[in-house]
Amino acid sequence: MICALCKTGSMKSGKTTVTMMRGEATIIIKDVPALVCGDCGEYWLDMDTSSTVFRIAEEAVKNGTEIEIRRFIAA
Ligand SMILES: [Zn+2]
Repeated sequence: MICALCKTGSMKSGKTTVTMMRGEATIIIKDVPALVCGDCGEYWLDMDTSSTVFRIAEEAVKNGTEIEIRRFIAA
């Protein structure tokens, strides 16, 4: 699979760090399984993974987090 952003790199399965901004809150989620471009670092998450990432971010916001760094744990 060729990267949609740089059109030259190929996407390989690996792990990435996702940063989510929610109003005042910043949630950084590490070790997220993703397809990652070897050239530009663009990543692509599958549906399950992205919904888990969103859920982690929403939970952090509900708890009043301003900055949180989490490791990805699959639901
Ligand atoms: Zn790329």
